[in-house]
This record gives sequence, C-alpha cells and structure tokens, in this order.
Amino acid sequence: MGNTVHPMHSSFANADLVECVLRFLPDFQCLASTILTSKTIYNVFQQHPRSVVRSVAYNLVGLALPQALRFVRCQNAQLYSKPVGELLGEDDIQKNPVLSNQDIRSLVAISTSVQELESLFSWRMKDRRFKTSQLSLAESTRFQKAMYRLSLFSAVYGHNGYESAVDPDSDQEEIDSALTEAFSLRKGFFGSFSTPELRDIQRVETFLRGIIARAEGFDFTMIPSATYSPESSFMLYCAPHNVVDVYKGGLDCITEWDFDPTEEIFFHDQFMIGPLKTVLIDRKEPLLLPVNQKQPIIDEIVGEHDRCSQCQSNTAQGLDLWGPSNWSYLWGNQLHHSIAQLLKGRVGANLADRTHFLTVSQETPAEELVGGLFDYKTPAYLTWNKADWLCSQCLEKFIRDHLHIWYLGQKINRGDVIPDNCWYGYNCRTQTHRLAHAQKLNHWCEPIKGDATPTNV
Ligand SMILES: [Zn+2]
Ligand SMILES: [Zn+2]
Repeated sequence: MGNTVHPMHSSFANADLVECVLRFLPDFQCLASTILTSKTIYNVFQQHPRSVVRSVAYNLVGLALPQALRFVRCQNAQLYSKPVGELLGEDDIQKNPVLSNQDIRSLVAISTSVQELESLFSWRMKDRRFKTSQLSLAESTRFQKAMYRLSLFSAVYGHNGYESAVDPDSDQEEIDSALTEAFSLRKGFFGSFSTPELRDIQRVETFLRGIIARAEGFDFTMIPSATYSPESSFMLYCAPHNVVDVYKGGLDCITEWDFDPTEEIFFHDQFMIGPLKTVLIDRKEPLLLPVNQKQPIIDEIVGEHDRCSQCQSNTAQGLDLWGPSNWSYLWGNQLHHSIAQLLKGRVGANLADRTHFLTVSQETPAEELVGGLFDYKTPAYLTWNKADWLCSQCLEKFIRDHLHIWYLGQKINRGDVIPDNCWYGYNCRTQTHRLAHAQKLNHWCEPIKGDATPTNV
C-alpha cells in the first residue's frame, strides 16, 4: 500500500507543478504553444490565466514592467498632451493588474526594441568585448526604466501631442502659446522623477543621440557626438525606441521625416533636454555630472582603465578603445561620406576609381574592412596586431596609412590589371581632372616624385 499514489493528491500536485512551469515561461509565444499542447495544461492555465500572464510578462520585460506597462497603456489610450497627474501612473499595474491582449501585443513589440538597445548600450558603455548585454540586474533595470520613461514622454508630448494640441490653421500667437504650454507640460513630467532617475534618462538620451550621429556619418573619432541635429531631435520626438532601427538600417528608416521646415520644428528642437535641464536648474543641480564622478546607470565598466596598445595615451581609455569586437560600431551605412576623407593625398577624387572605391568601401562591413587593412600591413606597423586595442588617433593613423593599399588589393582581387604607378602617386593633381590620365596609371601608391607628403592629413 505504501507506494500507492492517491489519485486526488496526484492530480493536485501535477496541476501545481504545471502552473509553476507556466509561470516560468520566458515569453508569450512559449506560453501559447505550451497551453495548446494538451487539454490538461490548458485547464490548469484557465484556473489562473491573469496571474500566469502577468508572471510571463515579468519574465519577458523584467523589473521595468510597471514602466513598460504605463507606456503602452498611456499610448494605447492616446493620452496626448496631458499633465503628468492625468496620465496613468507607474502603479497602474497594481491598480489594473489584468493585462489585455492589446497590452501584451504592445509590450512584446516595445520590449524587443528596448532589449536590443540595452545590448547596444552595454557594448558601448560597459563592456566593449560583447555585443549582448552584460549589464547587472540593477544596471539593466535602471536602463530599461529610463528607456520606457523616455518612450512615454515622446508618446505623450511628441509628434502625437503636437497634432492633438496645435490646429493646422493656428496663427503665430496660438503656436507660441501652444509651445509655452507644451514646455510646461514636459517640465511637469520630468519634475515627477527623482534627480538620479533624471540622470539615467539624460544618459540614455545622450546614448541614443550617439547612435543617430553615427548613422549621420560622423567621423568615428567624434563618437559619441554631442551634436543636436534636426534629425536626431525628430527621432527622439517621435519614438526613441526606434533608434534601434536607425542603428541597423540608417536614417532612411525615418520615413516620417519632413524636410520642409514647419512650425513643428520648434516643438522637437531641444524636445527632451530643454525641459529636463530646466528641472535640474530649479533643483540647483549641475547640468552634467563631472566626468571624474561615477556616471549614471553603470556601476562598473569592464576594462575601464585599459590603455591603447600602441601609444598608451592616458587620454583615451577603456570604452574609447577600438578592437575586433567593436569595429562594427565604427561607422554605419553612411560611411562613404567620411571614409574617402581618410584616403591620402588626392586619390579620393581619382576620376577613374572614385565611384568604385565608394561602392566597395560601403559594401564592406566596418569590421571586415578594418580587419582587412591588417592583411596589407606596411613594415612601419610590424608590431601592430589585429587583436590590439587602439585609441581613435592610432586607429585613424593606421587606416590612413593602409586604406589605399587595401583598395588596390580589392582591385586586384576582382581581376583588374594594375597599370604602372604614376610618379606622383596619391598626390597626383592630374588624376582629379583628366580621366585618361587617371585610367592610364595607378595612383593607389606612394609618390616618388614631387610633393611626397600627403596634402590632406
Ligand atoms: Zn593610441
Ligand atoms: Zn598621376
């Protein structure tokens, strides 16, 4: 009798176990396929559908679920241009704990973007060796909360807020008054957060601008850029989480961008940073934390004090260094605007090869191109290795000294017959205005006559 299992007890234990397993599922797709596997499991789910769904939502989104849910619910309820007190709060998850299908769909969509951005943030701001997030639980939660709060801010006071607050036929006076009102609403929103929370938001905002600046084709030596281009303001004004698409596909993904300046430009200029700074000033806080102080969100930077393998400079350390694991961040698909400027002499304007050079360099991913330069290493760089961590200056010098040689290699690889070298090499003036000369001789080489020093370095 000792081994006999009581049927009632067995069924209870199994139901308990099944419910526990359901609660640990990582996302809604898993939940849907699991509950459809058997009628028994489906029945267990039906006993506690709301709490199981909420557990899976926590597994998917993490500890920032209250902030994420506040964003999706305010957006879905179209609470545009409302004072912060009239928005749903971060405690809405306690007040209305049942997640609707619409809540779930919206959570799945935004959490995917936010997680991808977290990985990018971790790669750029914590551990340059890994493209997947290495943030601790506390760091990750701070990043995600800030990201969802920024997204909420844009959803309520951004492009949709403008359309709900400003009539297309408004005169200047009405627009000015709407602008003042909008600023006051935005300031009220930021005023509802503690100063450390504002610092986290400010840091994420700067990080997102860096991604947009990269897509705009800024020279990698300037990343992160502090520029405030209209494109970057507009992107943050519409949907900051979509910056992940800018990272992947460049600025072309901003389809709503209207190049005709309208009054709306005054609404997205300084959209976030303007009111946020006003709140900090009111609190008598510095606009930016001193660089020698711990910066927001990240508690510990991996390899923070690493130096450049070549120059050992103490001005560029840790996250400012470039190696095989982060070359791919160096530039986006607007590369061709800046890469030609890294060519020596006048060869970037060579009439015969310019277009092909731009095509080849644009089609070659950054990590492949920089890695490829090492295959053409000149004797002066004998001690330089692919695995080195280089500061921007050393990397730029290395690229300048090898880019033309690498390109000549690409021409040879595609079967081009390379003609004799022009004596003036990359410095030749004639290559830029006489096609026949540019075609007749090779200019992707060192000058042996005339001005032997490169002209545009
Ligand atoms: Zn260096
Ligand atoms: Zn020439």
